[in-house]
Amino acid sequence: MSLSALRASPPRIIIAGAGMSGLCLAIQLKRAGIETFQVFEKSSDVGGTWLDNHYPNSGCDIPSHLYSFSFDRRHDWSQKYARQPEILRYFQSSADKFEIRPFIQFETSIEEAIFDESTKVWTVTTSDGQSHEADVFVSAVGQLNRPKVPQIDGADEFQGTSWHSACWRDDLDLSGKDVAVIGNGASAIQFLPGLAEQAKSVTLFQRSPNWIHPLKNYHYPAWAKWAFRWLPLAQRLHRGWIFLLSEARFVAFANGENFANREYRRWLTRRMNKVATKEIKSDVIPDYPPGCKRILLSSDYIETLNRENVRLISAPLEKFDATGVVAEGESIPVDAAIFATGFQTTGFLQPMRIVGRNGVSLEEAYQPCPKTLLGMMTAGFPNLFMLYGPNTNLGHNSIIFMVECQVNYLLNCLNAKAKHQAQLVEPKPEAVEEYDHQLQEKLDATIWAGDCASWYKNAQGSIVNNWWGTATAFWRRTRKVNMAQMNFEE
Ligand code: NAP
Repeated sequence: MSLSALRASPPRIIIAGAGMSGLCLAIQLKRAGIETFQVFEKSSDVGGTWLDNHYPNSGCDIPSHLYSFSFDRRHDWSQKYARQPEILRYFQSSADKFEIRPFIQFETSIEEAIFDESTKVWTVTTSDGQSHEADVFVSAVGQLNRPKVPQIDGADEFQGTSWHSACWRDDLDLSGKDVAVIGNGASAIQFLPGLAEQAKSVTLFQRSPNWIHPLKNYHYPAWAKWAFRWLPLAQRLHRGWIFLLSEARFVAFANGENFANREYRRWLTRRMNKVATKEIKSDVIPDYPPGCKRILLSSDYIETLNRENVRLISAPLEKFDATGVVAEGESIPVDAAIFATGFQTTGFLQPMRIVGRNGVSLEEAYQPCPKTLLGMMTAGFPNLFMLYGPNTNLGHNSIIFMVECQVNYLLNCLNAKAKHQAQLVEPKPEAVEEYDHQLQEKLDATIWAGDCASWYKNAQGSIVNNWWGTATAFWRRTRKVNMAQMNFEE
């Protein structure tokens, strides 16, 4: 992309967050020769979700050769699905390689960003009490950064220790302990097998079952790493092949319970039936179509539920008492309780207070549902961009690909603003309405709209997190800025 106009008059840009998407933008700005940006990061290092989620066996279920920046490909991924330490090291080394750290103020969170219509400037207040002015404000805080811990009666009475999976207690040794795990989502299924080997007993509370697809991880042999290093085409082909296979999976999610989805369901049911013991079969096989909730990848989760020291409880956790947990009137003594209950996914950009034109906050503007252009821009909020915002999540492919598309679009948008010699760019309200109408229509046809509760939906049941199509469809829509959808203001 040619960004000559932007380079000639670069705006002051403030970025919230130095996770994957904040880094992606910062690196692309720097590569384009634009250094008028500043990143604020609440933690003491880069990495975002990969810094926080360091529970045992944390990892990514998208193959690493694809779950990495296209502009910073690595030849030496140790395995197909790298684990968290390697993924975190990757983002840290990208930050170092592109010399991004000097642009980041760590241990500082953004509390509010307020747009001033008279000066056309965003005033950003940070947790250290400082105010900063920016022409452009970008949220790169993602969708999975605020752990969700349900309120359960008696939690204060519990004498044991409890924590959320995203705030893992590395200081505690769970060997020989009785442990309760609440939730059986993407995080729980990763740490449960190791925990069951270590602990005396594990009681797993499952609110609803998940479809489990075998993970089949493997280490790359030395010859493959050699080939990826010395034959860059081999690595590109490998990455491209993973991308195509991932895109192909969308066939089973595109149109409700279509033929591909039914066949996939049959296959998963057969496989799960084969692995699960008679006692747990009826509890672990979902009654909703695969894809409605995120499909989980594991080759040892169900096997772990078969263990004698693991008890699966499908009834709700009624309450805590001093010694443990209570379910169906039975008191179960535990030393520790781990909440693997996911994240607050629908309050986009919260707890930051973002105020746009006419004093309207983003929280107000997003009632009852967020309406955006491409999950990145909101009418009434000029020069405000989001990365991994509403309706940009995927259930089948790499979110890094999506974020790269968004960064590309954002830079093109700012370049167009510079070309127009405009101070502000924002989407036309009618363009947002039309985009949202089409988005909702398309989402209604997908499998996510099925009869299941998932974090893709808000309390009203509207799908607010997921994109409706393939990653390629998103790329096509973000390749160029559609000028007819934009208002530029001098
Ligand atoms: P999650 O998948 O949303 O799972 C949360 C679990 O907690 C679910 O089993 C949920 O039950 C249960 N739960 C939530 N509130 C509850 C309550 N009040 N009472 C009882 N149970 C409750 O969360 P997660 O495991 O932290 O993962 C979140 C997302 O992070 C994933 O979907 C994924 O996008 C990402 N992630 C990705 C990877 C990866 O490999 N790429 C790994 C970890 C996480 P219900 O199912 O009934 O709602």
